[in-house]
Formats: sequence, structure tokens, C-alpha cells
Amino acid sequence: MQVIEKDRKRYFLGSNQDMQEIKYGLPGKVKFCKKCVISNQRPSSTPEFQHRPESTKQTIHFDENGICDACRYAEMKDVSVDWDDREEQLKVICDKYRSRNGSYDCLVPGSGGKDSIYASHILKTLYGMHPLTVTWAPHLYTDVGWRNFQSWVHEGGFDNYLFTPNGEVHRKLTRLATQNLLHPFQPFILGQKNFAPRIAAQFGIPLVFYGENEAEYGNPIDQNISAQRDTEYYVDAAGGPNELYFGGVPMSELGQYGIRHEHLEPYMPPKADDIKKSELEVQYLGYYLKWTPQECYYYAAEKVGFEANTERTEGTYSKYHSIDDKIDGYHFWTTYIKFGIGRASYDASQEIRNHHITREEGVALVRRFDGEFPRKFFADFLNYVSMEEEEFLELADQFRSPHLWRKSSEGWFLRHQIA
Ligand SMILES: [Zn+2]
Repeated sequence: MQVIEKDRKRYFLGSNQDMQEIKYGLPGKVKFCKKCVISNQRPSSTPEFQHRPESTKQTIHFDENGICDACRYAEMKDVSVDWDDREEQLKVICDKYRSRNGSYDCLVPGSGGKDSIYASHILKTLYGMHPLTVTWAPHLYTDVGWRNFQSWVHEGGFDNYLFTPNGEVHRKLTRLATQNLLHPFQPFILGQKNFAPRIAAQFGIPLVFYGENEAEYGNPIDQNISAQRDTEYYVDAAGGPNELYFGGVPMSELGQYGIRHEHLEPYMPPKADDIKKSELEVQYLGYYLKWTPQECYYYAAEKVGFEANTERTEGTYSKYHSIDDKIDGYHFWTTYIKFGIGRASYDASQEIRNHHITREEGVALVRRFDGEFPRKFFADFLNYVSMEEEEFLELADQFRSPHLWRKSSEGWFLRHQIA
């Protein structure tokens, strides 16, 4: 028995009987997938409303052969999915909803990254749809992100609603989420998730198309075998004001930070009645079309002049993935601190599954780049969350789970490195 419980905490019993505390309900023994480079510490996607600092996390499932569900799902997409049939299904949906007078018939949310450009462009040009594109603004647009957003609208030829949440409120929520959860992206994710169905319900647009289903990267396989996001997802989250947490704080206690209920309106899920009235259908295009992030990049570059960065993103080796927000780097760096999984691990795992790189190459990339501290926009980030450098770094250390990290005189080290 390697995991023991004591005083309501869990500990991993090391080889020399040292007790290492396990935070966040993570698995005590670290394992890496035999096909990709993800570890079993990766949390599954959970509704962000339920986030509390110590809440138990569900993590990605590994089968008896040591292979993660995301890899098994990728295999299914390679081998057993009939993509011609899936495209036919997509055409049926488009035929059902396509407007005859050019009015909006579907809504495509996105920031102007490669995936939303691909989704909206292909729906318009190949399937004759009339998408309205909507954007929940990044915290702080990067220059290249802003140019890509503009190219999407101008070169791609789309109507777009850009929504920027109240900067003062969003900064406060982001600070709370950083302080309480070391999750600076939590308020953004909340707002962005609920934004598209809210706008669709407001405009009476019955169909929302997301690109890829993010759940494919961590959720159990049986939850992915569907094209539709269950609209109950939104309804459930609206269980009642006192059940909702923002930045790790119950909604009823946010007043002390100067955040009132009406400030939170943009973050809330659409009302159940509105969803039912508009008979909203939320679809993933990635269910119907075989989705490859690299192909989306090439497509977006060719069709609207999407630009990659000139240099690789800190913490990884890629140049075109998630480059529109100055805060992005801190999202990935904080997952490295909490779960030992950094940005290169996510990128390499995805590229191994799509056969762009081998596992051996992936391992080398992870060992080289994972956890590299994002320096480039550090001053912007600190300013955004109103923290001093030392304060933030000390805070981050408190979120390191002892079963993943050990401290020596030279600094912090992961106990388990991929090999
Ligand atoms: Zn895997």
C-alpha cells in the first residue's frame, strides 16, 4: 500500500518510507503514457464552477497496457471512424439549418486562432453556411494575436462580435483565481465557455459550432463519442448563486472584493429557459471532420494570412498554438507547478497522436522545454494580477504537490521525469 491517509490528507510512501503529501486528489504514483508523453496526473476537464483549492480531481484514465484514453481515442479516429459517413452527417445538419436569405444560421466562437479560422472558413466556403463569429477577448492581446484576429475578420470576411469583459472585474477575478487556485485562466475559461450559447440564445441562432472537443485530451472515451455538447451542461452549472465559485470564492462572498452579482452576469451560463426556447444545438466540428491542429494552421495561413510567431513559445517548441494572449504562458506554467505537466507535454502528446513526431522526439522536447519559465510577458502578468514577482513565485511554491516535487539547495526538481 503506497498511499496512506492521515489527518484527512493523503501521502505517498516513498522507497525509504518518507511520506510525501499528495495534493488535489492526484494519483500517488506517477506514470507516463507508453504512446504519448502525458502523465496520469493530468486532470480531466471539469466544470470550472466547481473549482475549489483542494477539490479532488478526476484524472486521465490509463488502460491495462499503460496507454492513455486520449491516445486510444486518437487510434479510433485513425482506424475505426468512417469519416465519409461523418461528413455526410455534417451536411445533413447544415442542410437543416442553412439560411436562405443570408442571415446568420450558426455561431462560431473563437479568438482568431488557427482553429476558429478553419472552422468558420470551411463552414462558409465548403458548406455554404453563414456564420456569425463571436469572441470573448483574451486578457491582454499579443501583437500577433491581434493581427490574426483582424485577418480573420477582414481577410476571411466575417461579421464578428468582440466582447471584452469589464477589465477591473476581470482582473480582480483573475487575481483571486491565481491566489486561491493558482489558476489564472479560470475566470477566462468560465466566461468563454458560457459566452457562445448566451449570444446564440440572444440572437436566436439555433446552432453553435465549436472546433475540436477539448475533452478528447483528457476525458473518458465514452464521453467523447458524441458530436453534441449536452446543453444540460450549461443548465446544470446554473444551479443557484450560492453554489457557484469564482476564483475559489463563493459567489455570496465576492462583495468584499467589490464584485457585485451584476458584474458576474457575463460569466453566467445562459438561462435554462432561453436554451430551451431557442432549441440550441451545440456541435463539435471535430466530430465530423478529422481535426489536425497542424492542418488548421496551414489552412488558416493560406486562406486569411494567419501568422505564426517568429520564435518558439516559451515552455514549448511550437510557434502557432495559443499565441494571442500575453497571459497564456502562465496558464501552462501553473499546470506544470500543480500537476508536473507543462506546455511542451501538451504539444508533444498531441503531435505524437497526430503522427508528426515520434515518442522519442516528444520525450526529448519535454525534457528540454517543459516548465521553462515564461519571462517575455512576466511584467504584464504581474501588473494584471497586481502582484510582486516574489509574491507570485512564493505563492506558486505553495501549490507544488510534495509527491511531485522535491527541493534541494539548487532549487525545485520533479521527482519523476519522463524517459
Ligand atoms: Zn497517451
